[in-house]
Amino acid sequence: MRRCKSLLKDRLHQTQTTMSSLSEKVAIITGASSGIGEAIALAMAAKGAYLTLCGRDQKRLDTATQKCLQRNNNHPEYLLALTGDVTSNEHRREIVQRTIKKFGRLDILIPNAGIALPGLTIESTTEEQYDKVMDTNLKSVFFLIQEATPHLQESKGVIVCMSSVYSTIPTTWSMVYNFGKAAMDQMVRCLAVALGPKGIRVNAIKPSYIPTEITRHYPNHSDLPISHSKNEGPKHPFEGRCGTAEEIAEATLFLASSAASFVTGECLHVDGGRQFNGESI
Ligand code: NDP
Repeated sequence: MRRCKSLLKDRLHQTQTTMSSLSEKVAIITGASSGIGEAIALAMAAKGAYLTLCGRDQKRLDTATQKCLQRNNNHPEYLLALTGDVTSNEHRREIVQRTIKKFGRLDILIPNAGIALPGLTIESTTEEQYDKVMDTNLKSVFFLIQEATPHLQESKGVIVCMSSVYSTIPTTWSMVYNFGKAAMDQMVRCLAVALGPKGIRVNAIKPSYIPTEITRHYPNHSDLPISHSKNEGPKHPFEGRCGTAEEIAEATLFLASSAASFVTGECLHVDGGRQFNGESI
């Protein structure tokens, strides 16, 4: 009986430690001004992490920062907000250097910023559009990781990238986005092998369609999240619905936490089984 109680106590302690393993950790989240990135920022703020929040749009970033303050019991000293474009190497350097200057270390990198451009078919895609998608969704991620690596090596840190279920479901109208995310999956595996010996874990989350602002550049944007959700929802075997940014955030926190201490090179579907139902939106 006594042994049972002590086992239970150990288990409870372990769970509490895992749950609080993000407290006092220092994280960079790009694309924190909207959608999935904002949801991750809010969830991490609630766990007591120090956060560098990045985005382009000052107003949206200010709003996200205010929401984080509500979640972290009003501790502005836990937050650093930086506006800029992740495709610029000066800005990527600024993100890492100012994080180290303010918080003294870096434990978690979440290069989540990304775009989806409409109508990029084989016939219509221009070189400029191709470069914009690849520079934002792939190149900037790789070089931000490169910039952060020495600091993550010191902390034995972790990287969680934001891939997509569309890295394996082909579409004809958004193919550059699709194969850019497929390259990201392979990048995650290559980096897991390259950075594992330095004590850094590298993983990705693969969400299915989540109603966020990512459709903002599509014509008739305001109707799209609703109509996409209506069309996409039933294609999810689990409950016939789309996921939420909060559900993606929870899975991201899992991969970033010590609960996933032996998980690396993994691209984790968080998609309600959408991967098994191949048609596109
Ligand atoms: P949102 O459009 O809501 O958010 C995108 C974020 O990325 C914004 O904060 C935006 O900043 C930022 N961003 C985009 N381009 C740049 C840039 N050049 N420099 C700096 N910041 C930039 O989209 P989501 O939250 O949905 O997307 C987040 C990630 O999740 C992306 O990588 C996306 O590919 C991925 N994903 C999304 C899915 C979905 O269905 N929503 C499904 C699968 C994956 P700002 O607001 O200031 O412009």
